[in-house]
Amino acid sequence: MSTQHIVIVGSGFGGLGMGIRLKQAGIHDFTILEQGPEVGGTWRDNHYPGAACDVESHLYSYSFEPNPRWSRRFAPQQEILSYLIHCADKYQVRPHIRFGCAATSARFDDQSGTWEVNTSDGKMIHCRTLVAACGGLSKPAIPDLPGLDSFGGKVFHSARWDHSYSLSGKRVAVIGTGASAIQIVPAIASQVAKLSVFQRSPPWIIPKPDRRIKPDRQQRYADHPLLQRLTRTLFYLIHELAGVGFVVEPKLFQLLSRLVKKYIARSIPDESLRAQLTPNYALGCKRILLSNDYYPALCQPQVELVTAPIETVTRSGIRTADGEDRALDAIILATGFAAADVVSPFPILGRNGVDLSDVWKDGAEAYLGTVISGFPNAFLIVGPNTGLGHSSMVFMIESQIAYILSAIQAMQLGKLSAVEVKSDVQTRYNATIQERLKHTVWSSGCTSWYHAKNGRNTTLWPGFTFEFRLRTRRFSARDYVIEKLAH
Ligand code: NAP
Repeated sequence: MSTQHIVIVGSGFGGLGMGIRLKQAGIHDFTILEQGPEVGGTWRDNHYPGAACDVESHLYSYSFEPNPRWSRRFAPQQEILSYLIHCADKYQVRPHIRFGCAATSARFDDQSGTWEVNTSDGKMIHCRTLVAACGGLSKPAIPDLPGLDSFGGKVFHSARWDHSYSLSGKRVAVIGTGASAIQIVPAIASQVAKLSVFQRSPPWIIPKPDRRIKPDRQQRYADHPLLQRLTRTLFYLIHELAGVGFVVEPKLFQLLSRLVKKYIARSIPDESLRAQLTPNYALGCKRILLSNDYYPALCQPQVELVTAPIETVTRSGIRTADGEDRALDAIILATGFAAADVVSPFPILGRNGVDLSDVWKDGAEAYLGTVISGFPNAFLIVGPNTGLGHSSMVFMIESQIAYILSAIQAMQLGKLSAVEVKSDVQTRYNATIQERLKHTVWSSGCTSWYHAKNGRNTTLWPGFTFEFRLRTRRFSARDYVIEKLAH
């Protein structure tokens, strides 16, 4: 293994895209560590019934690998996973991947300017560069519900769906009403005997303009790649326009929320159910969800919405604060992911053995969501404040990949042993980010996974995606402390 070796952790959109871009740039000296049995990241793990993308697939895909064969405007999970598998095969990344092998820790060696990465198979890899592409939403958040361990029935998280367990004829609870739950509920409602949906706060839901893409249109995309590129660009521009409501003028969303309330009124004839489903916080503050079948599912006779807080889980079901007991066979935790209170994806020890978890104990921060002072030659994909409320994460991921690639090329060309972002550059950057976030809709007063426990928004990018693209276009040496290789 050479001293310029690169280790990438994760093979979802981030890690796989990084590997492909390295190969295209003629850099083949890298290893991808993947704890699972296949590529795909979140699209491999989230295979719950109804799982699909809520960003148009022509936009939610790599710019360098358009897929003319998307079957729907919003492709289902299986198709997105197949697309990523296709990318791994087409670009011959597989020989670089160690499947079933997790990074368990990484330590920077100040003397040699290299990383030592320990893996779950008991080995250690030395590398110059570490790229952590572990995903922002990969750690299921298991709610701290009293008695959950004592439940006698089946329990699983939405991201760990157990397909061997049949829900048919069962009394089932879904806890949570976020992006995952609103896809699960309509998909399972007709199988179960009874479905109780436990809602803590109602999401804002708008209609999903989903449709089948007919084979003749798919063929037209295949025959005319420019047409597909135009479609992608059109979706991109529409999403950026929505960004105005999130980051420039949240008042615009007040108008939209009036329209959405009319949609709720049309969808939910029952007045008290409608009141329970109408959010009391600004539209956009939590993720805006897209669905055509969630409200109809809630109107089915075997489905109930439970808004009384959960008091305890018992051996046989759930007791709510109003004293009611519901007997259940299964509890599905659609309770999201540990995103904002990020500890590092695995123990990462930087200069002088400093632990990233300690550095981040009051909230994660990085420069451009990608590099961290004190952690030379280490890069993050989907790091702090790179998340979006309004567009495709794949666009952000590709921006970060381009930046990391240009840093690696600069290191190889300049024979550099270490590049480390200057701490004042990182501090100034984050002060600006936090200041800008104060004026966005996400700071309008709601609780969400966007915020860390101390209230700081450590997850979202407070601007348009093209700004992020411009800022990450190229590695800029003046932002870094640089060390040269000894000859
Ligand atoms: P989520 O949006 O964080 O929703 C979690 C839900 O669980 C919320 O309704 C939350 O209520 C509730 N909850 C959490 N802890 C609870 C507790 N102790 N008791 C009762 N309720 C509790 O999680 P998610 O639905 O898995 O989605 C996470 C993110 O994944 C999304 O925002 C999106 O970025 C991504 N996602 C994308 C898609 C897609 O189509 N592309 C699909 C699924 C997920 P509160 O709202 O009151 O906190």
